[in-house]
Amino acid sequence: MAQLIDGKALSLSLKEEMKGRIAGIEKEFGRKPCLAVIIVGDNPASRSYVRGKIKAAEFVGMDSRLVELPEDVSEERLIAEIAQLNEDEGVDGILVQLPLPKHIDEDRIIDAISLDKDVDGFHPGNVAKLWLGRPCTVPCTPKGIMAMIESTGTGISGKKAVVVGRSNIVGKPVAKLLLDKNATVTIAHSRTANLADTCREADILVAAVGRPEMITADMIKPGAIVIDVGINRVSCTAADGTTTFRLVGDVDFKSATEVAGYITPVPGGVGPMTITMLMQNTIECFLRRIN
Ligand code: NDP
Repeated sequence: MAQLIDGKALSLSLKEEMKGRIAGIEKEFGRKPCLAVIIVGDNPASRSYVRGKIKAAEFVGMDSRLVELPEDVSEERLIAEIAQLNEDEGVDGILVQLPLPKHIDEDRIIDAISLDKDVDGFHPGNVAKLWLGRPCTVPCTPKGIMAMIESTGTGISGKKAVVVGRSNIVGKPVAKLLLDKNATVTIAHSRTANLADTCREADILVAAVGRPEMITADMIKPGAIVIDVGINRVSCTAADGTTTFRLVGDVDFKSATEVAGYITPVPGGVGPMTITMLMQNTIECFLRRIN
């Protein structure tokens, strides 16, 4: 039976530590780190993520600003808002909640954020530095995944890691971070032949696909570390016809837990760690800017 990697508990202990760090920063530098979050439109999932980020900032004692813009905001107006935050000495981190409405070019928006305030680590300057092995802001979800793997106390060096998914925000950066820790890394995707065989070779398996419970027990090597990044909302219809929704990951938790050595739950796994790493990145941006 797998041991649970409790992202919620790990997040809480990291955030408690940050409280003390931020109090110390305020004493030393006369102000707290400040995170600015821009949200466009009313997408309920985006609203809920943004609420979680602002709440976490309050919890750790950080300043935050919320900029809310209408769904039909122009790309130019959004860029002007970012430019204003770039110039604002009191703002250390800028996050634009994705996805953006279709009429806005996300790449242009990410490029508009000042490199030293890019707390998401999505700016091409940070991506380049990550792949070159230079100091940079590491994207929050991959950074949280690495902290969870490291929390098991199992070494990464020399292990075989398989990352299922090759997105710019999760799959690719987490593969690079695992490589940096001397894992032998395979990146799998929708065209991978024999995905099950590939996954079964993994000592560390990261599932970042967005397909409910697609990784089943027969795809997992006994004793492997399994990190489930997926957040999928699935509907369940009761006998009386009422429909409810539940969140599930990309891993079939019930069967996987019988085979894996360590496993993350959904919810309560990678999700809370992502938000906690955002707080950490904001502190790091503050310290880099002030020094
Ligand atoms: P993307 O949709 O950008 O990428 C999904 C990846 O999965 C693609 O590389 C795709 O391959 C691959 N894929 C799709 N179908 C298959 C398949 N049948 N077999 C193998 N690979 C497949 O997703 P994200 O990386 O943005 O997110 C992945 C999941 O993680 C989502 O559920 C998302 O909600 C969640 N997420 C959770 C976060 C958290 O904080 N917990 C943060 C970010 C994301 P191809 O490239 O060939 O199309």
